[in-house]
Amino acid sequence: MSDCIFCKIVAGDIPCNRIYEDDDVLAFHDIHPVAPVHFMIIPKAHVASLTECAAEHQAVLGKILLLAPNLAKEQGLDDGFRTVINTGKGGGQEVFHLHVHIIGGGGPRPL
Ligand code: 5GP
Ligand code: ZN
Repeated sequence: MSDCIFCKIVAGDIPCNRIYEDDDVLAFHDIHPVAPVHFMIIPKAHVASLTECAAEHQAVLGKILLLAPNLAKEQGLDDGFRTVINTGKGGGQEVFHLHVHIIGGGGPRPL
């Protein structure tokens, strides 16, 4: 999607602070972190949100969730982390390219 900010990050047109990349997924630090560690893992192929996911996305969704604890540990989150997926306007989603937030290191969670 040409007007999608995360597709532009995947394409290298917008820089990011990259943590991990393979053929299917990209992980990078959030530009406005809400905790000492705050990064996100996204599928490289554009899909707007969980609502638009179908059977073809099952593998990449599983890959992202299995990757999360490994990357969290690499980022120093030995004690655990929060995993947040905002879906749709009603779910507070602002960037409509599916992403899983990994958040931690900030003490008690705000919610
Ligand atoms: P959402 O509310 O859609 O779940 O979260 C979108 C997240 O993307 C926000 O936490 C915001 O800070 C982050 N974000 C928006 N634009 C950029 C960007 O250009 N680069 C990075 N690294 N993060 C971004
Ligand atoms: Zn996109």
